[in-house]
Amino acid sequence: MSMAREYYDVIVTGAGPAGLMAAVTASGEGASVLVLEKNSEAGKKLLLTGHGRCNITNLRIPDNFREKYHENARFLTSAFSSFSPEETREFFLALGVPTHEEEDGRIFPDSQKAETVRNALVKALSECGAVLLTEAPVISIRWKDSDEMWEVNSQAGTFVSRSLILATGGATFPATGSTGDGYRFARSLTHTVTPLAPALAPILLSGRKEDGTSAMPALAAGLTLPAVGICLLVENKKVACSEGELLFTHQGISGPAAMALSRKLPKEEELYSSGNVTVKVDMLPDLSREMAEEKLLHSMQAFPNRHMKRLLCETFHLAEKVAEFVVEEDAAANAVTKEERRKILSRLKESSWKVEKRTSMDVAYVTSGGVSVKEIIPKTMMSRIKRGLFFCGELMDIDGASGGYNLQCAWSTGFVAGRSAALAAKEEHEEN
Ligand SMILES: Cc1cc2nc3c(=O)[nH]c(=O)nc-3n(C[C@H](O)[C@H](O)[C@H](O)COP(=O)(O)OP(=O)(O)OC[C@H]3O[C@@H](n4cnc5c(N)ncnc54)[C@H](O)[C@@H]3O)c2cc1C
Repeated sequence: MSMAREYYDVIVTGAGPAGLMAAVTASGEGASVLVLEKNSEAGKKLLLTGHGRCNITNLRIPDNFREKYHENARFLTSAFSSFSPEETREFFLALGVPTHEEEDGRIFPDSQKAETVRNALVKALSECGAVLLTEAPVISIRWKDSDEMWEVNSQAGTFVSRSLILATGGATFPATGSTGDGYRFARSLTHTVTPLAPALAPILLSGRKEDGTSAMPALAAGLTLPAVGICLLVENKKVACSEGELLFTHQGISGPAAMALSRKLPKEEELYSSGNVTVKVDMLPDLSREMAEEKLLHSMQAFPNRHMKRLLCETFHLAEKVAEFVVEEDAAANAVTKEERRKILSRLKESSWKVEKRTSMDVAYVTSGGVSVKEIIPKTMMSRIKRGLFFCGELMDIDGASGGYNLQCAWSTGFVAGRSAALAAKEEHEEN
């Protein structure tokens, strides 16, 4: 079937945060822009961010990004200096979306609604004259040597452009449209895609504790511990550790501290079935075992008739559910043996649970792995393999911590890709 052909300076594939930012920026540079989005609306995943409140960015990024973006953090240095978290705030303020800071440098819109952010971007897009086609999944992409143009074949028609931006996102939460199509496109254009894995996902624990006793997660579903230390161990070797808030669910553990470890969950099933993947939780990360023991002994001596559950809650400011888990028999302090006291401390300082299996991509917030950044020029986001091809957002082999880091990656790389794609199209015009 032959379809209408239409020319644009820049075509953007995917209307998530990265694609929308790229399109607004390219339009601002004077390029004619077409955005092709598979869903019936733009930014479906963006609407879910920050539990619907959208943690837009994080002000700590200039200082901590090397740690927060893991192995490929350095790739982002240039993008962050072109478009920083402060500039993100100014950008959204200019679109009528004021923001405010919450704990740990996290920035949210004052409206507390992700919808405000998404709507502002879509409005900006239409005001600068860019065309957004929804229900327009891109099927294939090819470079036409004969006219030196990209030909983008979508369900809404075939379009051609001088610059092409791939912004199709990762492969997690596929119901939002991020089904990994961009990896296929990138491969078809001879780009390397590094192995994909779930990142920022809850961790599923098996029903029993290491020593066979009842598992805490089931006892404690719904409980949040504001500050724990947690490590992931594979075959008894620590592979990753984190600190922060932990949330117990019916299936296991979630919350920032647990989710930060998920990108290191091994993929080999036999490691899980043989019980070789465990998490170790320290519920008193600010106290060494010796300090905790000293504190507990002191309380037990000061209140010999007080029952242990109450005593523990008071001494360490613990939730009742935690005390219920760590104390087997709620005897008075003066009746507790040294052995029982040590057991209590072990449960507080190093409770260990087996991980049941690797979390599925469907429920991970972010994809780790993606289009290799070795093949992308960090200053422009242009492919090192194919001139006129640009990448941005989660499609690339970059993933960040929770706290606004992934959206800032989308804004900064989207900005750079949009600007460079517009400039590249202009240069081509001038050359011809
Ligand atoms: C529940 C949840 C909460 C989150 N909260 C936060 C948060 O508060 N802060 C934060 O920083 N990060 C958060 N993230 C991560 C963040 O949402 C993503 O990193 C970000 O959306 C990535 O942006 P992107 O534009 O690269 O990709 P996406 O948002 O995935 O957008 C890609 C777009 O491309 C479209 N597309 C895909 N294939 C095609 C195709 N073939 N043709 C046309 N269009 C196509 C998709 O439909 C989609 O609209 C959260 C993620 C989830 C799942």
